[in-house]
Amino acid sequence: MNRLWEQLFCIDRECRRLEKAAAVLQWDQETNLPPGGIEERAEQIALLQSIWHRKFTDGETGRLLDRAEAEDASPLERDFCRVLRRNYDRAVKLPGELVRDAARAEGLSQAAWVEARRNNDFASFAPHLKAMIGFARAKAGCWGFEGPRTYDGLLDVYEPGLTAGETEALFTPLREGLTGLLQKIGRASPPEDAFLEWNYPVEDQVRFNRELMEGLGFDTRRGRLDTSAHPFTTSLGFDDIRITTRYDPNQVLSGIFSTIHESGHAFYELGFAPELRGTCLAEGASMAIHESQSRLWENVIGRSRPFWEFWLPRLKARFPGRLSETGPEAFYRAVNRVRPSLIRVEADEVTYALHIILRFELEKRLFAGTLQVEELPGAWRGLMREFFGLEPPTDADGVLQDVHWSMGSFGYFPSYALGNLYSLQFWGKLRRDLPEAETRIREGKFETIRQWLRENIYSRGCRPEPAELLRTVTGEKLSVAPFLEYIKDKYTELYGL
Ligand code: ZN
Repeated sequence: MNRLWEQLFCIDRECRRLEKAAAVLQWDQETNLPPGGIEERAEQIALLQSIWHRKFTDGETGRLLDRAEAEDASPLERDFCRVLRRNYDRAVKLPGELVRDAARAEGLSQAAWVEARRNNDFASFAPHLKAMIGFARAKAGCWGFEGPRTYDGLLDVYEPGLTAGETEALFTPLREGLTGLLQKIGRASPPEDAFLEWNYPVEDQVRFNRELMEGLGFDTRRGRLDTSAHPFTTSLGFDDIRITTRYDPNQVLSGIFSTIHESGHAFYELGFAPELRGTCLAEGASMAIHESQSRLWENVIGRSRPFWEFWLPRLKARFPGRLSETGPEAFYRAVNRVRPSLIRVEADEVTYALHIILRFELEKRLFAGTLQVEELPGAWRGLMREFFGLEPPTDADGVLQDVHWSMGSFGYFPSYALGNLYSLQFWGKLRRDLPEAETRIREGKFETIRQWLRENIYSRGCRPEPAELLRTVTGEKLSVAPFLEYIKDKYTELYGL
């Protein structure tokens, strides 16, 4: 490798080390930090981010990139250049002051959100939310997305190239399909699921979740499981992927499905090809592709019949005396019970995307300037009535339930629903390539499935753009049809519709 490439890889590697150091501080904030440490922690993270920003955008990166782009390069070097250029252009267009101020405000805003949710006090959070919207608008403007295109610029951060219009074109038929199915399900009789709300001691849940994560194939020499209020996955290095879950003694599924979901994210991060190590290519292809992997494990695999044929006896063994009357069929039906609810993270497969479409609608209006922050709680309640026929009794169960807006992550929510769409397109191809997949799940053997995912998706990191990855793996364009077909087939059978 000549000196030019060496220098470019070195800048990228050192910048990523700074990012990972900030990620350690963030991980600690979510899992261990005493409340008194929050303000100082926000300063520490903001300082690291501003050092990263200064180092990455000091002019050297741009000069080297210009030269490298003019050279003959290997396919890996070309992809590296393309991704580094995108990251560089994003960073260099933001003034250092904006990066520092936004990072500091984010830490405080997140702390204010925690308090506001606890006290059901939207008014105390509103000024922080306004500030976050202001920073997001300013950043989109720096990237060249102004006026009616502001929200496109925010979506582009998470799903490169996808616009609000294209997202809407997918979400409209998705909403129609799901709403129609939900109405039919509402008239059918629901499965028995009271046994899921019995008391399951947290210590035993911790043991079961560890067994589950290792049973799926999580290599605990390269990662770990901890507890946090809001489950997440973070990469602290190529061989250090952390996931978190949460435990509620009366909601045994909450921890289980969080652990499976986050394990799916972790498998992606742990499956990058060794040659991507330490480079900007060791990232998921997009947020929605990342979500497609967590959702594939959580829903398509984790909420399937064969999955519980294997795992139910193990769950029973961890909680002796409980579930002794419950067979795999009854358990399968219970874990797939459809129930319109107030809370996104507890939603079933049929209603989940509707929660996302609701947030997408509100974000569009906020950035179009047709909805003010003060009107947000009312608008939320209105859409909840329209989508689910429910009204949250408090803002804590409504507009304050999610962490994303407090961190300035606008345009992120659509990734979850888009992830569902991608996941079924990938799964369709996996099933054609591995007709034995269902049998392997029933045997509790996940290696061949992980191997297929590693070869086709994980190992490539963000070398392909999302649309290109989907096309090369499945030959298809992003579509709602496979997801809707899966949902309709599964729930028509489950509810005898
Ligand atoms: Zn996720």
